[in-house]
Amino acid sequence: MQKSPDAIENLVKKLAKLPSVGTRSARRIALHLLSDKDLNMAPLEQALAFAKETVHACTLCGNLDVHDPCTICTHKHKDASKICVIQSVGDIWAMERTGFYDGHYHVIGGVLSALDGITPDKLNIKSLLNRLDNVTEIIMALGATVDGQATAHYIAEQIRTVKPDIQISRLAYGVPIGGEVEYLDDSTLATAMKSRANF
Ligand SMILES: [Zn+2]
Repeated sequence: MQKSPDAIENLVKKLAKLPSVGTRSARRIALHLLSDKDLNMAPLEQALAFAKETVHACTLCGNLDVHDPCTICTHKHKDASKICVIQSVGDIWAMERTGFYDGHYHVIGGVLSALDGITPDKLNIKSLLNRLDNVTEIIMALGATVDGQATAHYIAEQIRTVKPDIQISRLAYGVPIGGEVEYLDDSTLATAMKSRANF
């Protein structure tokens, strides 16, 4: 098989490092970009440069925005007494899409993991503890994984040492909307039963 020239192979390798893009897709994207550089590549180059120049992490919550503090932290109708603790900026976008939450966020940047060497100092936990002054409720919205829950417990403990009277809640676990009970895995069903709500 003929080898692709280095510049193409290099582009494919860089593209393949993007989330959800495997080598096959990376090749297709590279071909698409190179098939018309002016039409396909130049606007992407400009968008990347513009985003690199203007988008920054909010120094308060860690959200990505062109403003710092971000538009959520400075929003008139967002309730600053509530902070939802989430893993990544993608989680903010998901929450905001629901339109059901009117508080602030705090992006911790991952979850604790002994296996991957993610220790508390590698997450944005200190910055969360530093912004609790006017906060009355913390909502833990980390994943329902072992690491996610261990992280939530760790953060809750840290928060209680700083502010013992604060209300700490977490997202409910259970039956997904449209889900059939028969097809739920055992632990989801058991947890849904434990956290059942009044009808
Ligand atoms: Zn912010």
